[in-house]
Amino acid sequence: MTDHTHADTLRTPIVAVLGHVDHGKTSLLDTIRGSAVSEGEAGAITQHIGATDIPLDTISGMAGELIDPSDFDLPGLLFIDTPGHHSFSTLRARGGALADIAVLVVDVNDGFQPQTEEAIDILRRTGTPFVVAANKVDTTPGWNPQDGEPIQRSMEAQSERAKSMLDENLYEIIGQLSDAGFSADLYWRVQDFQKNIGVVPLSALTGEGVPDLLTVLMGLSQRFMKEEMAIDVTGPGEGTVLEVKDERGFGATVDTVVYDGVIRNGDTVVVGGQDEPIVTEVRALLRPRPLAEIRTEKEFEKVGEIGAAAGVKIAAPDLDEAMAGAPVRVVRDRTVDQVVEEVKAELAEIEVETADNGVVVKADTLGSLEAMANALREAEVPILRAEVGDIAPRDIAVAETANQDEHKAILGFNVDLLQNAESDLENADVKLFKNKVIYQLVEDYERYVEEKQRAQQETVLDKVVRPARFRILPDHTFRQNDPAVVGVEVISGTLQNNRNVGFFDGNEFERVGGLSGIQKQGEDVDEARSGERVSIAIDGPTVGRDIEEGDTLWTEVPEKHAKILEQELKEEITADEREALQGYLDTRRKRDPFWGK
Ligand code: GDP
Repeated sequence: MTDHTHADTLRTPIVAVLGHVDHGKTSLLDTIRGSAVSEGEAGAITQHIGATDIPLDTISGMAGELIDPSDFDLPGLLFIDTPGHHSFSTLRARGGALADIAVLVVDVNDGFQPQTEEAIDILRRTGTPFVVAANKVDTTPGWNPQDGEPIQRSMEAQSERAKSMLDENLYEIIGQLSDAGFSADLYWRVQDFQKNIGVVPLSALTGEGVPDLLTVLMGLSQRFMKEEMAIDVTGPGEGTVLEVKDERGFGATVDTVVYDGVIRNGDTVVVGGQDEPIVTEVRALLRPRPLAEIRTEKEFEKVGEIGAAAGVKIAAPDLDEAMAGAPVRVVRDRTVDQVVEEVKAELAEIEVETADNGVVVKADTLGSLEAMANALREAEVPILRAEVGDIAPRDIAVAETANQDEHKAILGFNVDLLQNAESDLENADVKLFKNKVIYQLVEDYERYVEEKQRAQQETVLDKVVRPARFRILPDHTFRQNDPAVVGVEVISGTLQNNRNVGFFDGNEFERVGGLSGIQKQGEDVDEARSGERVSIAIDGPTVGRDIEEGDTLWTEVPEKHAKILEQELKEEITADEREALQGYLDTRRKRDPFWGK
């Protein structure tokens, strides 16, 4: 642990592990912790809340020949225990990433997967240095495992065949990194880690290559982050909320990663809350009990103070409204107002743009809320309201107020539907989408909107009057009137039963009556398509007086329908319907240029 008695000490760099699901993030963290503990010495690791501290001595013990501890003056590495880029994007400090450095885990056989791409985007955006752990080398066919060994030693023990198969997979990953805009190579070939990404082949299962990973992380931090690691360890503590948790005997507590200064018991702190920053006083600082004392019934031990970098549980009144991802600041030598303003300013940076119209977004942390908002902005989906927290009855009520049906939706990232909201959701006309992968959540919603629009067009299409132009055939008058029954040929469009029909007298439309039946080869039908010959019954006219054989007639399309057809459904109707519509509109517009516009 860092010695906190002097000001301006180098703190431990904070490391986050990211990657696609099942590529081995959890296993890698377990292995790093496990092999550190089996290094044997007391104090091989220190368990924090939400993080594990591995001191330089332990790393150097594990890395053996790979490391000369006298090259380093950083005290070790602090690994964040919750892997995944979702927690990574939560982990912010002063608007940037809280993690100083990241490990991107990629399964050597699977290569880049959607969440690998997502993680790379976040690393690029936050400018976080990272190394790639090419995991699961032990699954290479014919692999001869060398537990816990440095990877090059292990590779020497492999058959040519196994080695070349692994190489092929590794170069695939290097190629994918290059496609993503990062020049990369196997870490031992990298001269300048600022320009090139180091790829470390390893196995979380057998531990081979893990010493190399720790060495590279240590080297990278030492070389490029030493200045940022110099902190005033007596300064007012600064941290980020990892999680808000109810704890028996303490009420709501915040699990916090402290990245600067020191937090002391009794300190006044400002914590980012749902509505307003929370000003409160630290009642207890809690750490996990050391393994040796695990038999005592209490899970945590109280400490008087905690300095960066560390994970700690803060118990204080009024923390219920605290938000994961929000800043925590000790007030100390400043005024409360000053610090409240600081916290507000930091939260304002993360604030999500909302509109008068749009969907409701809920996410588990501020960082993921921001990532959701970015993804939705790219997809051009407006947001009505965006908040951190589980889905509550209030959210359903808000979603229901959306003007458009497609916006009556809640997109929940990594959150639950609260029990008391379940029946509200059932009774409301609101669609809920939940997913743990942002792009999938957005895709699910987009697909839903598309389907909804298609369904809407279909119902409109069902109701709209279709245009038709048709001609009364010579010698096909079967009945003079009441109703008139004549044979016709549809020239273009779709002739539907029960429509009004008429003709153009010059540019004036004259209605002659309504269709009351269509027969095709003696059978009643609802409609006749272009080119078909059918007999129709028209209520109203008398053949020989109002209409004649050889006349061209039209279905009367109401102005409103003509407008919808022309402006919204032009792509949905057939070419000959479009032709009939155009002829109809052209004639109508000779008299009134704005007809149907
Ligand atoms: P996460 O979702 O990224 O945290 O992945 P996990 O750590 O849960 O690993 C997913 C699966 O891969 C588990 O069944 C692990 O046992 C397995 N796994 C992880 N690392 C290795 C490895 O190095 N070698 C082999 N053979 N299996 C591994």
